[in-house]
Amino acid sequence: MRIWTVANQKGGVGKTTAVTSLAGLLAQRGSAVLMVDLDPHGSLTSYCGLDPESVEPNLYDLFRAQGRGGSGAVSTHPTEVEGLDLLPASTALATLDRQLGNRKGMGLVIRRALASLADRYDYTLLDCPPMLGVLMVNALAACHHLVVPVQTEFLALKGLERMVHTLEMIERSRSDGLAYTIVPTLFDRRTRAATRALEELRQRYGERVWQGTIPVDTHFREASRQGLPLTVQQPWSRGSMAFRKLLEHLLAQEAADAAEVAGHG
Ligand code: ADP
Ligand code: MG
Repeated sequence: MRIWTVANQKGGVGKTTAVTSLAGLLAQRGSAVLMVDLDPHGSLTSYCGLDPESVEPNLYDLFRAQGRGGSGAVSTHPTEVEGLDLLPASTALATLDRQLGNRKGMGLVIRRALASLADRYDYTLLDCPPMLGVLMVNALAACHHLVVPVQTEFLALKGLERMVHTLEMIERSRSDGLAYTIVPTLFDRRTRAATRALEELRQRYGERVWQGTIPVDTHFREASRQGLPLTVQQPWSRGSMAFRKLLEHLLAQEAADAAEVAGHG
C-alpha cells in the first residue's frame, strides 16, 4: 500500500478537492483506495455524505483506543464510488491536541493503524487539517509522499514558507526523508496576479513544483454538493483533466523513487 498525504497549513487551497479527485481517479483505474479525513471540520466526511458530528466508527475512536493502550480493528465506510472507502473524521478530533497530544506514541497512531490495512488497500490518501498539530504530525509520519496544494496568489506563498519550514523539520526527523510535490491550485491564467505567483513559486521552489496547474473550475463546487469526486462525475472537465495529469506525474515520480531505492540497495 502506498500512502500519500495532502497538507498545507492554510485552508481553502484545494486539499480536500485534491484528495477526492486523485482518489476517484485511482479507484477508477481499479485500485482499492482509502481516504482518511484528519480535519476536525470533517469536510471530506460531509463530502461523502456522512455527518462528522455523529458518524461511527471514526478516526477519533482510533486515537482514543490508542490512548487507552489498546489497538483494535480499524473499520472503514464505503462511498458511492466502487473501490473507494473512507475513514471519517469526528468533530471530537478538535480536542485531541489538548487530551492526548503529549502522550508518548501519539505521533504514530495513524501509521500503525494503516499498517493493519495494508493488504486491503493499494492507496491511502490522508486529508489534513490546516494547522500543525498531532493530526498533521501523524499524517507526515505515515506517508510515503506529500502533496502540497498552493493557491496561486501572493499571500498563499507566504503561508507556504511556514509549511516548508515544518517539512524541513519533519524531513530531518525521518530517516527516509520526505519527498513532496507542490501543486499550484485555483490557477486563473487570465489574471496577472496568478501568473506572477506561479512564476515566483517556480523560481523559489524549482523542481519541487509540479509543471502543471489545477485551474479554477466551478464544477468542483457542484461536484462537492453531489458527493462525488469531480474526476468521476465529469472526467472531461478542465479540472479533472488537470488532476489526471497530476496523477500521472505522481505515479511516475513514485516509480522513479522506487528505482532509486532499488539502485542504492
Ligand atoms: P481545503 O481542503 O484546502 O480547505 P477545499 O478543497 O475544501 O480546500 O476547497 C475550498 C473550496 O474551493 C471548495 O468549495 C472547493 O469546491 C473550491 N475549490 C477547490 N479547488 C477549486 C478549483 N480548482 N476551482 C474552483 N473551485 C475550487
Ligand atoms: Mg479540507
